[in-house]
Amino acid sequence: MPSRALLLAVALALALLALLALVTLRAVTDRERPPARWPDAAAIPLADGFDFPVGAPDARGYRDAQPFGLNQHLGSDWNGVLGADTDLGDPVFAAAAGLVTEAADHGGGWGNVVRVVHRVSSAPGRAGAGAGPERVVETLYAHLDRIDVRPGDLVTRGQPIGTIGTAHGRYLAHLHFELRTSVGVALGGGYGDPALGQVDPTAFIQAHRPPRR
Ligand SMILES: [Zn+2]
Repeated sequence: MPSRALLLAVALALALLALLALVTLRAVTDRERPPARWPDAAAIPLADGFDFPVGAPDARGYRDAQPFGLNQHLGSDWNGVLGADTDLGDPVFAAAAGLVTEAADHGGGWGNVVRVVHRVSSAPGRAGAGAGPERVVETLYAHLDRIDVRPGDLVTRGQPIGTIGTAHGRYLAHLHFELRTSVGVALGGGYGDPALGQVDPTAFIQAHRPPRR
């Protein structure tokens, strides 16, 4: 009898250990992982300015169906002017020169996501070198149908990085585009308080246009 009780106690302890391991593993995998690479600032090209991520450089042929702030939206929803899925598969462009820090499928409401970090002058309207103190911002491109870049890639302004998608059939095709002053933080929910450094991407782009010849 005592050996039976001992066996029971051991089995119980083992079960408890297994449960603990499972809970710990879940907590780790559930946590939103930051971009795989966190570069030092010197590795990030200095952006000479920002263009729109669709219909580059000026979003010609597209409209922002849900601008930043509307319904507490934390980005822009770029749609082809013809509506529905007419923009499915259209190219998405890097808004500025930068370093790809993430290119991954998050599933759910995000789908395929690309993030690019950019080094930029903080002086409004003057994005180039020598125009003032520098900072780092991040652009985020979501619901992509296809991803054409990998973490660690250097991209130029206007370079195709993927195509407009539906987040695996969840929405009519559009690009959810965010611009953040915080880099490499959680994806968040796309709506709500701009707690993750989200700013109005259109206002930012308009304040940081590249020099035109
Ligand atoms: Zn959106």
